[in-house]
Amino acid sequence: MTTSKPLVAILTGAGISTDSGIPDYRGPNGVWRKDPDAEKLVTYEYYMNDPEIRRRAWQVRRRGGTLAAEPNGAHRAITDLERSGVPVRVITQNVDGLHQRAGMPARKVLELHGSAREFVCTGCGERGPMDAALARVEAGEDDPGCLICGSVLKSTTVMFGENLDPVVLAEAVSVTKACQVFFAVGSTLQVHPAAGLAGLAAEHGARLVVVNAEPTPYDDVADEVVREPIGTALPRLLSAVRDVPGATA
Ligand SMILES: [Zn+2]
Repeated sequence: MTTSKPLVAILTGAGISTDSGIPDYRGPNGVWRKDPDAEKLVTYEYYMNDPEIRRRAWQVRRRGGTLAAEPNGAHRAITDLERSGVPVRVITQNVDGLHQRAGMPARKVLELHGSAREFVCTGCGERGPMDAALARVEAGEDDPGCLICGSVLKSTTVMFGENLDPVVLAEAVSVTKACQVFFAVGSTLQVHPAAGLAGLAAEHGARLVVVNAEPTPYDDVADEVVREPIGTALPRLLSAVRDVPGATA
């Protein structure tokens, strides 16, 4: 692709979705800190071996609210940048699908940790919309199995004890190396390998901008660190990128 406009990579973490009402699981008020047992629901070994854990996990998915959440101004600002003609790739640690719901083309969103909006069969690999599986729970199945092979179903979110999708990760790494500007937004940059992408971007010469309420391990190598709320900071920062094509460094 030849373009005079910079490739912009935007890594997003939980902080971008809190304005949409989705809790930050790792933050000070995170679900896992309030209920350590909840971590079992997203740990592969427990999930696969304990039907009771799966029954609880389906109830959490049913009541969770993630699927009903709406994108906020920060998600829309990223879509606006993409629609303005600037090449944009989103690399997200979130599983809420809100970038796509805000209008980002799915092929430009790399979901490092999978998606809560899709299920996968742990036996045959069949995939489908989470809504379809939840409709079966709603209708009375407490642990719906695969309709093709009968195996355990889970969301495509990466559980503890599972590896990230190597294809998605490889693409994230190549985008990170190729971009001219790398935003890290609403991520504590403490969970690897996602966090390491910020350092990789800087090493490869990208301008690194960290937008996060709390300090991150990569603030020292960042060109700019922004502490103000994402909902106001990101639209401003991205409109600056859009208005100065090819001259963001
Ligand atoms: Zn199956």
